Amino acid sequence: MIAENLISVTQRIARACEKSGRPPDAVRLVCVTKEAGIEDALAVLSLGVKDLGENRVQELASKYAAIGDKATWHLVGHLQTNKARDAVRISSLIHSVDSVKLAKEIDKEAKKIGKTQDILVQVNASGEATKFGITPDEAVSLIKEISLYPNINIKGLMTIAPEVSDPESVRPYFRALRELRDELSSVPREKGTVPIRGQSPFSELSMGMTNDFEVAIEEGATIIRIGRAIFQK
Ligand SMILES: *Cc1c(COP(=O)(O)O)cnc(C)c1O
Repeated sequence: MIAENLISVTQRIARACEKSGRPPDAVRLVCVTKEAGIEDALAVLSLGVKDLGENRVQELASKYAAIGDKATWHLVGHLQTNKARDAVRISSLIHSVDSVKLAKEIDKEAKKIGKTQDILVQVNASGEATKFGITPDEAVSLIKEISLYPNINIKGLMTIAPEVSDPESVRPYFRALRELRDELSSVPREKGTVPIRGQSPFSELSMGMTNDFEVAIEEGATIIRIGRAIFQK
């Protein structure tokens, strides 16, 4: 079942890329395993997937303990400051930075282990009250502030769209995230005023889940985070 699901998702990614004139390898698939067991996570890896995502640090740590470096790990869910250490130890990319306090903690933990931690800033593009993430305006000032942290690399932005039955209705949020990225990546790169330090292109857009990934790809997603469409039996 997982193999069929994965083939179908891969084909849908390819079609969405084609429709929007993007190369099929423009989009990285992160398989979100929060509702999958170790066995299913291993199954997608054996089918050629490289990237696994978890939304909670505890679950990330327990999957990592079983699977280790066979996967590239993503923390896609909200991160509490006091869990930063494990998140930094394991994650290739932390998608959910939404405060200076958290960024500072990540920077500190990364420094301890001699790592530069790749992160995304989570933006609440829809303004929905229940979602984590910060407003686009806050994102600009957050990025300016944390771009000076030496052990953090800001790679781009992440958003979670509201759950709706018609994915077309969340297109404006994805578009807004892309425009924000474009705006931020065109700011002159001088130290202290820059969003992003020179070594890291600020290009990633983590957006799109089972319900809405095709629309997200059409709007420029570079990373999509898929759980149910792959693991549901
Ligand atoms: C669960 C989760 C996903 C995957 O959601 P599906 O709808 O199962 O594809 C993506 N991103 C985050 C942050 C999640 O928590």
